[in-house]
Amino acid sequence: MRSYQIAVIGAGITGLTQALWLQRQGHQISLFERGGERLDHHCSHVGAGMLAPYCELSEAEDAVAHWGAAALKRWQAVTPTLALPVHMTCEGTLVVAHHRDRAGMQHLAERVTHAGFGAHRQWLQRDALRELEPELEGRFAEGLYFAPEGEIDPRSLLPALVETLRQNGAQLNFMTEVEHLAPGEITLRGERHAFDWVLDCRGLAAREQMSDLRGVRGEIITLRTREVHLRRPIRMMHPRYPLYIVPRPDHRFVVGATSLESDSLRPATVRSTLELLSAAYALHPAFAEAEIVEMNTQCRPALPDHLPRIVQHDTLLRINGLYRHGYLLSPLLAEAVAAFIGEQRRPAATAKLWQSSGPATGGGRA
Ligand SMILES: Cc1cc2nc3c(=O)[nH]c(=O)nc-3n(C[C@H](O)[C@H](O)[C@H](O)COP(=O)(O)OP(=O)(O)OC[C@H]3O[C@@H](n4cnc5c(N)ncnc54)[C@H](O)[C@@H]3O)c2cc1C
Repeated sequence: MRSYQIAVIGAGITGLTQALWLQRQGHQISLFERGGERLDHHCSHVGAGMLAPYCELSEAEDAVAHWGAAALKRWQAVTPTLALPVHMTCEGTLVVAHHRDRAGMQHLAERVTHAGFGAHRQWLQRDALRELEPELEGRFAEGLYFAPEGEIDPRSLLPALVETLRQNGAQLNFMTEVEHLAPGEITLRGERHAFDWVLDCRGLAAREQMSDLRGVRGEIITLRTREVHLRRPIRMMHPRYPLYIVPRPDHRFVVGATSLESDSLRPATVRSTLELLSAAYALHPAFAEAEIVEMNTQCRPALPDHLPRIVQHDTLLRINGLYRHGYLLSPLLAEAVAAFIGEQRRPAATAKLWQSSGPATGGGRA
């Protein structure tokens, strides 16, 4: 197979997975990121890293569950091969609801069955709930358990991807803004540089070129306490958006996330903070004494159908619209692009993601 020179623009989860998959196919990767190597400025830094293909069916279409289940297996295979350790668990997701929100849980169960994934969900009554999460004993009469789901910690995954790329010879350019990108070339500080392929993974910054891309604001809080011992992500049904609590190393718990039609990056509001913290407290009163270690706001890059998209303009590919599913789906998009560049084929399972846009007109200011 021919080895290509490939420029990847953007070191979010989309760009980093694209870069890794292509590097492992033997291509030469140059990564360009306008932010610093700490990678604490972008949407991917804030994402919760839930790998919950079936729970997502409360909002998403069936394809997301099919792709997400396949992608979760890719993460399981890839993370042990990375240059740094990555925190990833596959202990399932437990969904619970207070009495007034029970209809939402029932709806999710029906939706999952209707989509053909009924075998992956299990209703649990009090005793089984206690066995799974002893500290929730007596708080909920029943729960819905999705055993094959998992979570991955972006705070260990992103540095591990960067380090793996570096150790395997990728050229990493942080603090480097690409001014213009077009099929086969990018412009940096006024100078044009040629590549065999250019991958635009700029998230929301690509809005000028993808006019139907919009931001969906999410607020998320990290707590720390030694008093709570949850074993797996817990989702609580909520009338406006799915709320979840994800246990992480160092006694941290990620509590997220709001979902608001806005691209404002202003700090979290009182209302959202109250909702998130009330949910945590209602789940487990010991959260009352937890420390708030982080509060973050970011905007998810979303397309109208809430599905990701790969747009081809000759040798420029735009990979975007990961919305709520950057961690869940990025390995599958990376696999699709690697198959296309390496073997000129579009895998049937992800054919729906592609959009060709005719001749090489995909330029415009980056
Ligand atoms: C609160 C919240 C919770 C979430 N939870 C989950 C979850 O549990 N599971 C899940 O799967 N997903 C989750 N997501 C979604 C996920 O985080 C996003 O889908 C994902 O981060 C999008 O990644 P991206 O790489 O496309 O964009 P980004 O992370 O925004 O990366 C784009 C990068 O491109 C760089 N860039 C832009 N322009 C240029 C330029 N001209 N030159 C060089 N670099 C440039 C930017 O600096 C940035 O680093 C969540 C999102 C939010 C906000």
